[in-house]
Amino acid sequence: MKMIKTRTFYKCPVCGKNSTDRGEIQRHFAQHTIIAEEIVYCSICGEGWYVNYWGERRARQKAAACFLNHKKAGDIDETAARAFFLSGGEFGYPTVREGKNDGT
Ligand SMILES: [Zn+2]
Ligand SMILES: [Zn+2]
Repeated sequence: MKMIKTRTFYKCPVCGKNSTDRGEIQRHFAQHTIIAEEIVYCSICGEGWYVNYWGERRARQKAAACFLNHKKAGDIDETAARAFFLSGGEFGYPTVREGKNDGT
């Protein structure tokens, strides 16, 4: 008589449904719909717009407008440096200019 018994369960990585029948889970998994979400980001502050929500053109316009706003507001270095550290380097850039050299 065996003292120990093991059984292998196969688990769907998407919803967690499991079964001892590997084929069943493979068939089940194939039925999941894969959803792709595209997001357009402002590369300075990392704010993003969903393409599914805004449409690709609008999303790109929004991100471009955000970028231009930083430029216009003159906060591009400050915002970029902050976003760089907050996002772990994904957005923005690390160099901060030491104030504006405008003769004051
Ligand atoms: Zn599933
Ligand atoms: Zn921005």
